[in-house]
Amino acid sequence: MVDRLVNSEANARRIALVESCFGGAGQPLQVPGRVLVGEGVLTKSCRKKPKPRQFFLFNDLLVYGNIIINKKKYNKQHIIPLEEVKLKSLEDEGQFKNGWLICTRGKSFAVYAATATEKQEWMAHINKCIEDLLKKSGKKAAVDHAAVWVPDGEANQCMHCKKTQFSLVNRRHHCRKCGTVVCAPCSSKRFLLPAQSSKPIRVCTSCFDELSTSGSGSSSNMSKEAKVTDSSGEEDTDDEETNGDLEEDSNRPSFYGSPVGETATAS
Ligand code: ZN
Ligand code: ZN
Repeated sequence: MVDRLVNSEANARRIALVESCFGGAGQPLQVPGRVLVGEGVLTKSCRKKPKPRQFFLFNDLLVYGNIIINKKKYNKQHIIPLEEVKLKSLEDEGQFKNGWLICTRGKSFAVYAATATEKQEWMAHINKCIEDLLKKSGKKAAVDHAAVWVPDGEANQCMHCKKTQFSLVNRRHHCRKCGTVVCAPCSSKRFLLPAQSSKPIRVCTSCFDELSTSGSGSSSNMSKEAKVTDSSGEEDTDDEETNGDLEEDSNRPSFYGSPVGETATAS
């Protein structure tokens, strides 16, 4: 059980190591009661193309970052509270295998594991942590999740008017509500989606009309695309980084404590 790790020295050491790998680029992670449940490399769908990212699963957070030096140095730390996470398995499609969606209020994106077993392990551990956390806090699972962005490469023309061909002049934009790739005239409107930003953000004209008439941004419209990308902020700055060398062998994820699904002895 994860609970057994709470006050263990090994757990404290592992969390301290994660902190030191992020250095000044990260938040303090050592909080009483927090357990590092597992870690490993997942391929994360980004706006341009999928990239390897180091993920850390805590019993209350999912943290990931860019890999500068494998197992030594990471930056661009992202912290996602697990209470608002919902996972959704993705079907294999071409080179995109062993994937699932990580949906949160602020952003939603796809990740891919190296093997089907690793996918199963990750999803089981994450879901178990979410379940335990919600049980402990008595909170309800978040229902409103950000749309998953269609990658730039999936759209050569505006998905809204189907006329504008994208080019250096006609740039691609993403509707924050439905995640489609649209041209500037088709996304000239802004709407307040409090889960994603305190300021009104870019939406396509269809979503604007829908949001305006319905009164609020209720359930989010998940993209039907199998290949999906990150719905993070205005510019995908975490895309710009290069990644250090990855030793193939060391990419296996590590999970600490007893495996998920094991009939626990604790009551
Ligand atoms: Zn358009
Ligand atoms: Zn839209």
